Amino acid sequence: MKVLGIETSCDETAAAIVDSDHNILANRVLSQLEEHEPYGGVVPEIAARSHMDHLDRLIREALEEARLGFEDLDGIAATAGPGLIGGVFVGVMTAKAIAAARKLPFLAVNHLEGHALTARLTEGEAAAFPYLLLLVSGGHCQLLAVEAVGCYSRLGGTIDDAVGEAFDKTAKMMGLPYPGGPLMEQIAKKGDPERFDLPRPMKGRPGCDFSFSGLKTAVRNKILELAGEDGAISNLTDQDKSDLAASFQAAVGDVLIDRCSHAMDLFQARYGRPGPLVVAGGVAANLALRDRLTALTDQRQTSLLAPPVKLCTDNGVMIAWAGLERLQLGLTDSLDFAPRPRWPLDQLTGVKDRA
Ligand code: ATP
Ligand code: MG
Ligand code: FE
Repeated sequence: MKVLGIETSCDETAAAIVDSDHNILANRVLSQLEEHEPYGGVVPEIAARSHMDHLDRLIREALEEARLGFEDLDGIAATAGPGLIGGVFVGVMTAKAIAAARKLPFLAVNHLEGHALTARLTEGEAAAFPYLLLLVSGGHCQLLAVEAVGCYSRLGGTIDDAVGEAFDKTAKMMGLPYPGGPLMEQIAKKGDPERFDLPRPMKGRPGCDFSFSGLKTAVRNKILELAGEDGAISNLTDQDKSDLAASFQAAVGDVLIDRCSHAMDLFQARYGRPGPLVVAGGVAANLALRDRLTALTDQRQTSLLAPPVKLCTDNGVMIAWAGLERLQLGLTDSLDFAPRPRWPLDQLTGVKDRA
């Protein structure tokens, strides 16, 4: 079985093809970073227009890369939310048009389910259901028990910023370009994680919720101190920035460990084992944070499963794979499915809703 997946929910235009033997037959990703760079963040209107300009070509290239035609496919999947709605429309309408013209099933994929199921493509049996999921991306920060395709039970989430958002905003305060997450990880390597005493919001509290705005504010205050009287970021040395990034990353790591540890207790009570723990979403690309999580899963005698770095940030492979899993279960969608700007994971249709 082969499925084409289309991703257009943010600032990556992507098309990919996967098969049911866990092979990635094609993976085309076009980043719009340069188009948004002058604005310091993603501009929805520019994103939607750019998806329009490039998606058809990327789909053609994906088919060429896989040496397949539309007639070889078994389904067409597209991100149908959550995300920037203009971009989501472009992907969904394109997928529906192909599905209608070629009489193929259409799969309306939740972008977060794409992140959530990628480990099942790359890690196979090790990521059998149920597993504990730490979803850490640009727009989300949640802990969930994943019971089956479409069946998610939320254990906790952020009450303010997402982790990726906190990385990006902190980086911006230090004068680093968007998206700051990957750059923060790079400069943190040369930094002293103990130089700045930053808060660990929510650490030690019951439950699995997160908060990052206090941490962000604490970094802003340190930056103001370092910038001195004229308040110019240029007064910060490269070492200052590296130390800030390392201290910030260490604080985030401590919070993630504490929250995951609580989630493991809940998971253990429900399923008789603490994991495995799957980490997904753009921030899962951070290898320093992964190392921290590996130490935790080792200690709890379970395992950490993480997709390869390239498949953590937005891509079409994750959408194709989630579509394929849904197709295998008969969870297809009708051509009048309306895209959803907001679409929480615990509101999906899944195997349990099937008649
Ligand atoms: P969502 O999936 O919630 O809709 P999104 O699709 O915009 O949001 P992703 O592409 O999943 O987000 O992730 C992008 C985020 O991941 C950005 O905030 C980026 O800074 C962050 N990120 C990527 N690489 C790293 C890294 N190495 N360290 C920390 N953060 C990172
Ligand atoms: Mg992006
Ligand atoms: Fe994403």
